[in-house]
Amino acid sequence: MKLLSIKDLDLANKKVFIRCDFNVPMDDFGNITDDRRIRSAVASINYCLDKDCAVILASHFGRPKGEVVEKYSLKPIALRLQQLLKRHVEMANDVVGEDALKKAKELPRHEVLLLENLRFEAGETQNDAKLSETLASMAEFYINDAFGVSHRAHASVEGITKFFDTEHKAAGFLLEKEINYFGKLINNPVRPFAAIVGGSKVSGKLEALTNLLPKVDKIFIGGGMAFTFLKQMGYNIGASLVEDDLMNEAQHVMDEAKRLGVKFYLPVDVVAAEKFAEDAVSKTVTAQEIPDNWMGLDIGPATVRLYREGLNDVQTVLWNGPMGVYEMEKFARGSFKIAHFVADSYATTVVGGGDTADLVQRVGLNEEISFISTGGGASLELLEGKELPGVAPLRVKV
Ligand code: AMP
Repeated sequence: MKLLSIKDLDLANKKVFIRCDFNVPMDDFGNITDDRRIRSAVASINYCLDKDCAVILASHFGRPKGEVVEKYSLKPIALRLQQLLKRHVEMANDVVGEDALKKAKELPRHEVLLLENLRFEAGETQNDAKLSETLASMAEFYINDAFGVSHRAHASVEGITKFFDTEHKAAGFLLEKEINYFGKLINNPVRPFAAIVGGSKVSGKLEALTNLLPKVDKIFIGGGMAFTFLKQMGYNIGASLVEDDLMNEAQHVMDEAKRLGVKFYLPVDVVAAEKFAEDAVSKTVTAQEIPDNWMGLDIGPATVRLYREGLNDVQTVLWNGPMGVYEMEKFARGSFKIAHFVADSYATTVVGGGDTADLVQRVGLNEEISFISTGGGASLELLEGKELPGVAPLRVKV
């Protein structure tokens, strides 16, 4: 399905409101550690500036829960944005207060205004109509370029779209790219198509797994979620992460894979540790020999070899979720090895946002991946086959 395009709007000399996702990671010193989300918004912003627009930007950052919390101010983001746009970015002191409304009203063309953190307003996450209306009143056009938050029915994402007709709202370039990439991936992948699915729990990925099964040729399971499958198969998994209440579901996924002819891969060995800690005593054991009370925290070297072998002939790879506790060096090897293999392959490679994007960046391989999504939760919902509330109002109705 097609999205309303920013290119079809009559933007010349107008005032435009762009909902961005500037929710970037920061270190303890307040430095932005990954500005990919800010960089990804530049195309839509520059497009509007080139059309002689006055541009109002809005985003959330962290979870200030409806209160003004200084550490969640967007000021550091305004500074980075200035560097990237190579022009001044005016910062409002509030979201819909006196300062923001005045600055928005008086904003000349070719100027950029950034509102304060949208979540300083409780109405943002409550999808409050009054807040949507006030935000909408600032501009003549609304652009959603915040893919990472488009799975949320929030005031600046969903509610606000009701105040603009189809000639006055559209998806930004980033949102369009994300939706098109995932749409093509799911509906028309070049085969063989493999999904690598990891992360902590089956529960978080069950719907995505179920939706992906009829579409993929192979699935490779890693991370904590593998142990629910292994336990269901009768293995002793020691103290590894497990969801006993989902063992039937795990069996169902394996049965469906068999029925559909999807090759379903599980780890054959793991790095097991005595406790969940960087300094834990650890060893590599086969999936059959995990000692009692030990927990599997990474896939082992035999699994890495097996997965490489299985991935060798694929043309499209979708990866969502780490293979182990990659935040701890000791249990990061499996994820890092798979990251290198995926990055080196000639297949089209797509990485879901969140942890998987973070891990690919840690290994310094982000330039080698065909597409890294800017939204972990949002891309997962797309893989689950859901319509995102922030995207639905921007579909071209036929
Ligand atoms: P998710 O948010 O479900 O994608 O899970 C990501 C988290 O899963 C990361 O923080 C990993 O540390 C964690 N994880 C991966 N493998 C394991 C494992 N074997 N045991 C416990 N946690 C894991």
